[in-house]
Amino acid sequence: MTFVLFVSFEGKNPFQSDDCTTGRQTGSQHRAYKIVMDVKGKKVTVIGLGKSGSSAAKWLALQGAEVTVSDMKEAGELDPNLVAGLTRLGVKLETGGHRHDTFLLADIIVISPGVPLDIAPLTDARREGIPILGELELASRGIDIPILAVTGTNGKSTVTSLLGALIRSAGYETFVGGNIGTPLIDYVADGRNADFAVVEVSSFQLDTAGTFSPHVALLLNITPDHLDRYPDYEAYERSKLSIFRNQGRGGFAILNDDDQRLSGFNPAGPSVLRYGMERRENRQAWIENKTLRARSLDGGEVSFDLKDFALPGKHNLENLMGVVLAGMALQIESHVIQDTIRSFRSLPHRMELAGRFRGVSFYDDSKATNVDASLRAVQSFENPIVLIAGGRHKGADYGPLVRGAKGRVRKAVLLGEAGSLIAGSFEGEIPFEFARDMKDAVARAFSAAGAGEVVLLAPACSSFDMFTDYAHRGRIFKQAVEDLRGGS
Ligand code: ADP
Repeated sequence: MTFVLFVSFEGKNPFQSDDCTTGRQTGSQHRAYKIVMDVKGKKVTVIGLGKSGSSAAKWLALQGAEVTVSDMKEAGELDPNLVAGLTRLGVKLETGGHRHDTFLLADIIVISPGVPLDIAPLTDARREGIPILGELELASRGIDIPILAVTGTNGKSTVTSLLGALIRSAGYETFVGGNIGTPLIDYVADGRNADFAVVEVSSFQLDTAGTFSPHVALLLNITPDHLDRYPDYEAYERSKLSIFRNQGRGGFAILNDDDQRLSGFNPAGPSVLRYGMERRENRQAWIENKTLRARSLDGGEVSFDLKDFALPGKHNLENLMGVVLAGMALQIESHVIQDTIRSFRSLPHRMELAGRFRGVSFYDDSKATNVDASLRAVQSFENPIVLIAGGRHKGADYGPLVRGAKGRVRKAVLLGEAGSLIAGSFEGEIPFEFARDMKDAVARAFSAAGAGEVVLLAPACSSFDMFTDYAHRGRIFKQAVEDLRGGS
């Protein structure tokens, strides 16, 4: 494996290695966790025995904390392997509900991303001044490798995977996880030994990560979402922007300059790198004649060919620019970046081609669970679209989708709880019909689509009214496309 030698940027290199011949930090340095929070002998209550809760409990117990895990589920509903592992480490379990004392007598409370911050025992604990840390906060206090954090309303998983793939291609051992799959606390609890951690970070995680300070923070966009979980849109924006709040000199803040909110935002500490579709003086990356142009850290310009970039839509060019700038901040060589641009493929259920049948192309963008993602999907095709939308309403306005869909979407097939609400916005603008379920929606969309056209599942809503999650919804869509073929 070859390692690129880090050279300093503006005279400072935050990764400056002890081992100057390879640029790699030494293994022993990785293994010695930077424990900036002494939990030995402290009473720590961990809420939720999910994946991240159990890793947090394990790590805390190994650090000598007195750990109790509290879960709403009954003992019989919990994973017996997780329970056995924790019991061996001396972790106490409280099941079938939360006792107030378990919270109020704790020195520290650790919560998993899915736990709502406003449950009564947490509100009371906060009033008593007991620190409440999220899994991300805890994990970031336990590792000493550079963290690259990706957030935004849309594109986080795609960018996290793409950036992880890029850094791995450069020869670095890289942990890729966070909100996208393996929680960062797993890396800590398992005593792993990577060079970098690339983590997808949600706004909920940022809300409980008060000292989190990623070396590279990438904010892709902020558009209305989760309005059912935040008091207002400004609160959601503040949460996203807080990814930069602890970054200091030597860190990198990467921002989408085409995003209205972000173009006017100037993080105070880090070097700020901006990207947008057009060249501008303040931007470090832009698109020009089917190439991605970027200013390198020494002021020169580099070009990357986009001919073989497989991810469709302008939004994916934005995503790519963010990744390229992050790669350049790490001094990854241009040929490695170019190879990654060529080889990376869409993640499942994100603008994924599900099949072609009688000249109609079927795209699965089930992960488009909000209005902006759905709008971006619609804007990604030149050919007429039959759009399948609907699901559980999340409080957003469908107006921008209707405006963006006009002239592109010739018919909408609506389903789920939000079907009639969306219909209210489409009324008089774009023809629509209702479907009973996904199979019916695919059949209706197919009969409305002509050869050369696109049937696009981009629901603009969450899936929980009819499916276990977006992946389940995507699989049922793909199955319905297959059935169409089989029944022909
Ligand atoms: P996240 O992890 O933020 O949900 P994903 O990569 O899973 O992001 O993509 C979620 C949805 O957003 C998909 O429908 C995808 O096509 C769309 N999307 C991806 N990148 C962007 C972007 N930059 N702007 C808007 N939508 C995007």
